[in-house]
Amino acid sequence: MTRQTVIAGNWKMNMRCDSAVALAKGVVAAVGDHPSVQVVLCPPSVYLTEVNDAVAGTPVELGAQNLYADGDGAFTGEVNAAMLTDVGCHYVILGHSERRTLMGETDSDVSKKLHAALAGHLVPIVCVGESLEQREANETEKVIERQINGSLAGLDEVRAAGIVIAYEPIWAIGTGRTASPEQAEEVHAFIRKELGKMFGEDVAAQIRIQYGGSVKPGNAKELLSQPNIDGALVGGASLKVEDFAGIIAAG
Ligand code: PGA
Repeated sequence: MTRQTVIAGNWKMNMRCDSAVALAKGVVAAVGDHPSVQVVLCPPSVYLTEVNDAVAGTPVELGAQNLYADGDGAFTGEVNAAMLTDVGCHYVILGHSERRTLMGETDSDVSKKLHAALAGHLVPIVCVGESLEQREANETEKVIERQINGSLAGLDEVRAAGIVIAYEPIWAIGTGRTASPEQAEEVHAFIRKELGKMFGEDVAAQIRIQYGGSVKPGNAKELLSQPNIDGALVGGASLKVEDFAGIIAAG
């Protein structure tokens, strides 16, 4: 089963309009016309339109960092799936650990968002990952199992095949401390086993699982060469064209 590598840049709450457009244009130039990997840029929602203009007609896809699960209505400050597709998004990051920790998002919230994303024809990138305390208490598999089961609740096999999972150990995010390729592969293989239990092995073999957490040009190749690592969700290193291009080149 060949899974197309997907490298996504999670810009988080960074950039201004000019720098966002310049970064997107730089990535488009670095990616060229026939990349061997899928590249996705996830800017802050206020810059989606401008970044979409910069990537339109190129192989680079646009993604959002979050959505609100309801349809239009009285939800001040929120943005839904229909609005994201309207401004050109194909992907959406869901359940990032920063949202789980800082905004109190639960697995059940993530599952609602997942269904809203799929109903709106967006590809969800569902984030899971354990904290340092949980890893040190040998709870990694228990935590991941709970997050996978809860976040993907109610998903059917047909739709499951098209989603993306991002394994992001919280202790590796923005810390410069990357999981070793072996540590990451071990959890990715575990995630695929869990997906197999939920959706069958054939479907599990199609689901792309990204690694995220201090991915840089210098460690990307080794991580991406692991059998169950099908891409990267990149934070800090996606904010500089050279760094992000280096990671794409490793894919
Ligand atoms: P980082 O962030 O690459 O800066 O560690 C990854 C993420 O949070 O998606």
